[in-house]
Formats: sequence, C-alpha cells, structure tokens
Amino acid sequence: MRKGDLTAKLSWKCAFGHEFEASPTLVLLGGHWCPHCLPAPWNYDEEAKRNPFFAQVWYPLHEKNEANYYDESIFAGLEETFTTGR
Ligand SMILES: [Zn+2]
Repeated sequence: MRKGDLTAKLSWKCAFGHEFEASPTLVLLGGHWCPHCLPAPWNYDEEAKRNPFFAQVWYPLHEKNEANYYDESIFAGLEETFTTGR
C-alpha cells in the first residue's frame, strides 16, 4: 500500500480465511467486507444496529430510522455503463 492512497485495491483476508480485493475507501468508508461472508442483499441499517464497528461508519452518513436495502438489482445496467463508457 502506498501511504495515503485510499483508492488502490489491497488484498484482504477475513476471519474465515476468504481472500478478496477492495480499496481502503470501500472497506473503511463504504462499509463493504468479505463478499463470501457478507453477500448481497445488504441490509445496512439492520447491520448497523447489531455491529458496532459497522455502525461507526454508517451512522455519520445515515439517520437511525432509515431502512436501506440493496439487492442485485443495483448492478442492473452497470456492466453496460462500463463497456459503452456512458
Ligand atoms: Zn469471509
């Protein structure tokens, strides 16, 4: 890791030994973690109620009464965006 670079991907290993790549921004500011242990769908508001570590990155950006839920539909059209550049 280059000091101060939060966007370059790093290699991570979760407590169950799964290895994956993600930028420090995605993990520390976005709240993402091991795709095997925390696969979609993501219910971040419920996660924050039970996980104090995650709560400290979620609540500065969200109210405690929100109910955000993300499933695979958030990826719809994403690949097309990358391939067409639009
Ligand atoms: Zn894992």
